[in-house]
Amino acid sequence: MIPFTLEAATTPADAIRSALLGGRYIAGGTTLVDLMHEEVERPEHLIDINALALTGIRADGDDLVIGALARMSDVAAHPDVQRLQPMIAESLIEGASPQLRNMASMGGNLLQRCRCPYFRMLDAACNKRDPGAGCAAVDGLNAGHAILGISDSCAATHPSDVAVAFIALDAMMTVLGPDGERSFAVEDLFLLPGTTPHLEHALRPGELITEIRVPGGPHARAARYLKVRDRQSYEFALVSAAAALHVESGVIRDVRIACGGVGTKPWRMRSCEAALIGIPPQREAFAAAAALSTEGARPLAHNAYKVALLPRTITRALEMAGELA
Ligand SMILES: Cc1cc2nc3c(=O)[nH]c(=O)nc-3n(C[C@H](O)[C@H](O)[C@H](O)COP(=O)(O)OP(=O)(O)OC[C@H]3O[C@@H](n4cnc5c(N)ncnc54)[C@H](O)[C@@H]3O)c2cc1C
Ligand code: SF4
Repeated sequence: MIPFTLEAATTPADAIRSALLGGRYIAGGTTLVDLMHEEVERPEHLIDINALALTGIRADGDDLVIGALARMSDVAAHPDVQRLQPMIAESLIEGASPQLRNMASMGGNLLQRCRCPYFRMLDAACNKRDPGAGCAAVDGLNAGHAILGISDSCAATHPSDVAVAFIALDAMMTVLGPDGERSFAVEDLFLLPGTTPHLEHALRPGELITEIRVPGGPHARAARYLKVRDRQSYEFALVSAAAALHVESGVIRDVRIACGGVGTKPWRMRSCEAALIGIPPQREAFAAAAALSTEGARPLAHNAYKVALLPRTITRALEMAGELA
């Protein structure tokens, strides 16, 4: 590992000041330290943010407010999360391992980097690691790569599970930076690769994620997260679907769908949602709407199976949510 210096920030203002001088925040370190070991990431200065008061988890009416430093396991086990937003808990438990979830923070989870194998191989071409170098995945092992939102520069998927649930539930995030606080949709955090895949998120220099707010409502209580993967635990998604349904008087009043493992960022499925409003929640309707999910899909040599798997995963997630609605 390349030498670095470490400071423990005691206030957000101190942390932000150091970040503006080039320091990198570290929370659980489960992604960043890993990448530093492999010398994919080479920060010269780390800012430990764990002493900041950002671990709270609370209900605010029907909304849920989650501190950026709350640990994945604490969020998943929290009674207000299980009561108001059970899909958040479900998506967290489906991610990583118990030991990792005990250490890993919510802010770090959203900002974790991609799992493309070439990104971590220093001798492979990777535009995300080394802008302009090319992309070894285009003609390489791309069975796990994205089919939506890809460019000629990069087709890596975003690996976070809980980001998919957040986006389905229209979660908002708050960040604090040198110019004060601002809030925006979690969906807007993630950037498409285009010709600049090394630019992954919309945070401005020095900005610190402070909390995530998940709006509640009847749809949030009838919501499920389905993750399809190569093995049952400790594995990233091949395809995942978060589905939330509000059914009233026998018809769908509100529906939210987002998917993971298929897009270069967590992917909201708005055309599928639009096709379901006002109709009865039945399997045929779910399948017909889910078929719209692959519009614009651009499979690579080894991941065309995702074009078939994606609508099936959405259909099943909707059926599971329908059992609660
Ligand atoms: C073997 C393995 C399997 C995994 N499987 C899954 C899985 O199936 N699903 C899944 O979703 N995840 C999975 N993960 C990823 C894991 O969830 C993340 O590593 C973890 O959530 C990152 O949180 P952290 O606090 O450790 O982040 P860190 O490593 O501390 O930080 C990650 C990044 O976020 C930045 N950062 C952290 N906090 C903030 C903040 N508050 N504001 C601004 N920037 C911040 C850091 O600067 C860094 O760039 C897996 C990880 C491993 C190692
Ligand atoms: S898909 Fe993206 S992360 Fe993977 S090698 Fe290509 S540029 Fe790098």
